[in-house]
Amino acid sequence: MNPSQNGQHMTDTTIVLLPCINGCIRKGTEDTDHPEPLVAKRGMFCLRCFGKAERALRAVPDLVEHVVSNFPGTITKVSDDVRVSGTSERSLGSFSEQAWVDADAIYSALAVYSAHWAKAMSISPPAPARRSWRDEHGYVLGLPASISPADARQTAGVMSDWLLIHLPQIFTFDQASVNEFIDGLAPIGSIAARWPMVERPRTSPMPHVQLSICNGQIKVWPAGLPGTEVYAVCEKCGHQFELDEYEEAVHAYLVDQQETKRARQAAAARATREQNSAAHVQKRLLTKYGQIVGHAS
Ligand SMILES: [Zn+2]
Ligand SMILES: [Zn+2]
Repeated sequence: MNPSQNGQHMTDTTIVLLPCINGCIRKGTEDTDHPEPLVAKRGMFCLRCFGKAERALRAVPDLVEHVVSNFPGTITKVSDDVRVSGTSERSLGSFSEQAWVDADAIYSALAVYSAHWAKAMSISPPAPARRSWRDEHGYVLGLPASISPADARQTAGVMSDWLLIHLPQIFTFDQASVNEFIDGLAPIGSIAARWPMVERPRTSPMPHVQLSICNGQIKVWPAGLPGTEVYAVCEKCGHQFELDEYEEAVHAYLVDQQETKRARQAAAARATREQNSAAHVQKRLLTKYGQIVGHAS
């Protein structure tokens, strides 16, 4: 990948790899006991810093829907037969009160940050952030009490999607603003841990190719395994990937696959061209001489 590694001369286009401005380091593993500084790949930040924000935002729609479904009253919507008297009064027990506080915290953070970054980028914020419930001083008041889990998912999801789309640009801003944003999203992780869901991983497009003998299937956990930095796990050998490590590996793998495919297509196209031109020559000779000129020797 790096031209100098192939013994070629460095060119003017060689990209200088700077360390992450937050000084992130990957701790040594059993293979390499040297701590390794992580490279800045998103603005001045490494993929781990970027991944913290990305992972929190990706978790939002499922999480908000799940947390709001723990509000009192919303559960009784499932069936009128099991409606409990008094639930419409929203007598908040401590359990549901926590759900309320948590859903509201996520919602408010999304509204505040999408409004903030829209202003910083001089673009219009997502619709829910524009019409979010505010007091007379313009402070975000949070979720309306009557919201359904589906509506909460939709409203929060529009904002988290908007932030995800603009995340690469957001990470080009200054260190203090970006770090404040990362910290502001961090509570989403603790909220997710408080409201565990039966989360289902997806299968990675990459088999475990780093250990040549493995070739196992890799499962990706979009919000990470609760309470850990683990993002993907090889089902065969149990190798655990952190987000930045996984993204780097899968990127390299997919680029490699693309190149192999392109090379194969180019070879096939060349073979077809050669075949066509041979057929063309034969046809011309046939027209000219009325017979196929073989390989007579
Ligand atoms: Zn970093
Ligand atoms: Zn493996």
